[in-house]
Amino acid sequence: MRISELYQSVQGEGEYLGTPSVFLRTTGCNLRCWFCDTPFTSWQPEGSDVPLPVLLEKLLSFDCEHVVITGGEPLLPVEIEPLTAALNRVGRFLTIETAGTIFRPVSCDLMSISPKLQNSTPPATRSSRWAARHEALRYQPNVIRELIRRYRYQFKFVIDQPGDVTQVEDYLTTLPEVDRSRVWLMPQAVSAIELTEKSAWLEALAAESGFRFTSRWQIAEFGNVRGR
Ligand code: SF4
Repeated sequence: MRISELYQSVQGEGEYLGTPSVFLRTTGCNLRCWFCDTPFTSWQPEGSDVPLPVLLEKLLSFDCEHVVITGGEPLLPVEIEPLTAALNRVGRFLTIETAGTIFRPVSCDLMSISPKLQNSTPPATRSSRWAARHEALRYQPNVIRELIRRYRYQFKFVIDQPGDVTQVEDYLTTLPEVDRSRVWLMPQAVSAIELTEKSAWLEALAAESGFRFTSRWQIAEFGNVRGR
């Protein structure tokens, strides 16, 4: 399995914010968000191939119940199926962080879905090929339906501008089966200053719209750095 990072930190977003967790970051993504905060897993993918038994041993060497598998897009590699099954067998609490464009029958305790809205599409001037591919792939309602049918879930939408909340509403109109109480809005930010500025209006907007607001602890604490 191609891995970019493995480290222990604290979950910075959503329902389990503040929970000590081990983060396994796969590399490779089928999308190319302009604001991607891990370009080393998407625009310029880096990482090493780690055999599954070695990866499992490394993961279990952390004395930490919560494991977060993130990316990149962690549902791309087929090895995630046996890996999550093995972690489940030994009682780890597993969160998978996905953009919700690919389905795999994994084992997990929380499917954390961060769908990518129109506000994520990169400009054609950056890459016309990726702009078209991203736009064609980012919305996969049948995958979302399958994920929320099978797993306990949360949605986290990245909001850059106040008008983006309208895109969230439009998105949810097409998926009425999504429980709005499990929908979180979080600011697009790569620095603590940007996070503070956007949180000021987004927290109020989320409350008005009946969504939950989540800050991003790791950005507030460290900025956009690896291994945090
Ligand atoms: S889906 Fe996630 S990892 Fe992929 S490009 Fe977008 S932000 Fe980056």
